[in-house]
Amino acid sequence: LVDDSAILTVNQLSKSFGGVKAVNNLSFSVKENNIHAIIGPNGAGKSTLFNLITGVITPDTGEIKLSNQDITSLRPDKIAERGVSRTFQNIRLFPDMTVFETVLIGTYLLTGGKLLPAVFRTKSFRNKEREAKERIEEILKFVGLWDMRHEYAARLSYGNQRRVEIARALATNPVLLLLDEPTAGMNQQETKELMQLFSQVNNQGITILIIAHDMHLVNTLSNQITVINFGEKLVEGPPEMIQNHPAVLEAYMGR
Ligand code: ADP
Ligand code: MG
Repeated sequence: LVDDSAILTVNQLSKSFGGVKAVNNLSFSVKENNIHAIIGPNGAGKSTLFNLITGVITPDTGEIKLSNQDITSLRPDKIAERGVSRTFQNIRLFPDMTVFETVLIGTYLLTGGKLLPAVFRTKSFRNKEREAKERIEEILKFVGLWDMRHEYAARLSYGNQRRVEIARALATNPVLLLLDEPTAGMNQQETKELMQLFSQVNNQGITILIIAHDMHLVNTLSNQITVINFGEKLVEGPPEMIQNHPAVLEAYMGR
């Protein structure tokens, strides 16, 4: 079946580690411009799913499509180049880099050196560098970190470190942003502010796939939820349908 409005399609995807079926015959799709949440108990296979989508690991079987293009088993930098970007469950920042450097260098690394390729292809190096810096200025202002650009990223508050990661992910100009438990460990205020940021990102036309445990966040922010357990899809639907679904309650209780 072809769903024209899907930006991401995952088809019968499986990945085992030894005897553990981390992702098991999983199929679902993400509609363009949605904020789509993935929820499920610890060990359900959520982060593994993100690693498969971003090419960090390759699936045993199954297919992943970005719009109508097959991206299954492409290299991570090729997938980033096509517009898939992510943040990690555990924040990953270089210890000795400022906020500005982190976003600049991180963007180069994520795209294998091809920073903002479409914009830069015909420009001289000096122009490329200037445009890269302008773009990063724009992004740092957007996420609220411009005033902290010269500070060491790893020394910022936890909430701001998460913003650095988000800025780095946005600098590759994604069409699809994957967020792996972005508000875990955040206080209420930080969570609220990050949720606002995600809405703003989404309003810029970026589709979001978010892993989260905070049901308030999931119900407020997302318009579609896929619940997974033991690597398999349990149920799927809008928040109203998932909120009090017996199978979902059972999955969380049973573990
Ligand atoms: P979640 O993010 O939903 O908590 P994960 O995707 O991290 O779950 O893990 C799913 C299962 O796969 C777990 O049993 C975990 O131990 C296992 N797993 C994940 N990554 C690896 C790996 N690189 N090597 C071995 N086992 C792994
Ligand atoms: Mg995880």
